[in-house]
Amino acid sequence: MTRRRWIAEHWDEATATILGAQAEHMARVLRTLPGMEADVVAGGHVFHAEVAAVGPNEVRFNLIAEVQADPALPVTLVVSVYKFDHMEWAIEKATELGVAAVAPVIARRTEKHLALAAEKRVERWRRIAHEAALQSRRSDVPLIHDPVSLAERVRATSPATRPASGSTCMVLAEQERTTTLRQALDEAIAAAQEQMPTLEIAIGPEGGWAPEEEALFDANGWVAVSLGPRILRAETAAIAALAVVASYLE
Ligand code: SAH
Repeated sequence: MTRRRWIAEHWDEATATILGAQAEHMARVLRTLPGMEADVVAGGHVFHAEVAAVGPNEVRFNLIAEVQADPALPVTLVVSVYKFDHMEWAIEKATELGVAAVAPVIARRTEKHLALAAEKRVERWRRIAHEAALQSRRSDVPLIHDPVSLAERVRATSPATRPASGSTCMVLAEQERTTTLRQALDEAIAAAQEQMPTLEIAIGPEGGWAPEEEALFDANGWVAVSLGPRILRAETAAIAALAVVASYLE
């Protein structure tokens, strides 16, 4: 049986601590006692560990040995902020599928009130990613970036202006008719040679990308890619894209 993994809030070389809801669950529901064994994720590494002390809101472990962990998919999803309930679902599912990071961006067609509220939502998005990482027994929690404007994100990562960033940047676009995500991945894999390529994949809001955003991507070396002839909701596009990437890289 696979042991449940606990994600540590604090750790050093020899010990790790979980707090809050995880600790309460271990103490009250599972009636964990010192001496019991567990798998603990600390700093992106998984350890075989032994429970050292149990309090109502804190469980401390002694780390025994590192165990082999599965790496995340080397993908940052750049998600245009849109309807929060759909977006939360996308973050949860993307975490299950192994995404390394999610970068929320404010796009031209992001609704004004959502754009204004996005900053206050980040903590909730991080909690959702944390829960989903636990549930899917990931050894790490995806990084959820603070929301920024699309232009800022594109400037920060573009292959055209920052070739050293090493990422292949792709923008999902339903009107793209020639290049599929699969073809673009083939090229990225060939270009990365022996190495694992790292990818940035951008998804537009409900209303799609505005023409000036398409021009911005284009000017900065992002490749427009298609997921097929049907128009998908943004959250479906996120999941489909990650599944295609996983089928190549895992
Ligand atoms: N402009 C659209 C809807 C946009 S769908 C409309 O006609 O209403 C939201 C986002 O999902 C898009 O911006 C794009 O990033 C992605 N998307 C949806 N379908 C896609 C497809 N077939 N290929 C690539 N990306 C797609």
